[in-house]
Amino acid sequence: MKIDSDSNSKENTRMTIEKFSKPSVAVIKNKTSFFLENAKHLNYVLSVNEVYIQQPQRNRCKNCDNPITGKDFISHNVPYVVCDICNHLHGVHEINSNATFNFAKISLILINLSN
Ligand SMILES: [Zn+2]
Repeated sequence: MKIDSDSNSKENTRMTIEKFSKPSVAVIKNKTSFFLENAKHLNYVLSVNEVYIQQPQRNRCKNCDNPITGKDFISHNVPYVVCDICNHLHGVHEINSNATFNFAKISLILINLSN
């Protein structure tokens, strides 16, 4: 924030607020793929989520280690739970190295299909 003043009197003090952000055009250009290829991105997410929901159930909060149970909502086939102690939001399944490997495999398959 800049403060410009033509004089020392309080009535003549003028404030200029400078805002810093990306122009909307740059953001839209960056996200064009999400507008034009929504089905492709949705299919990718659903494929990854299919692997994720096969993983073992998470029993403790990743943030505070509090025991967690149940689910609060489901989005794109993935159940999520909010920790009662710290309000951390996480999926109810663990992500292990096997799941990470399968996510990478799905990515490679989809990249090959789109080329
Ligand atoms: Zn927690």
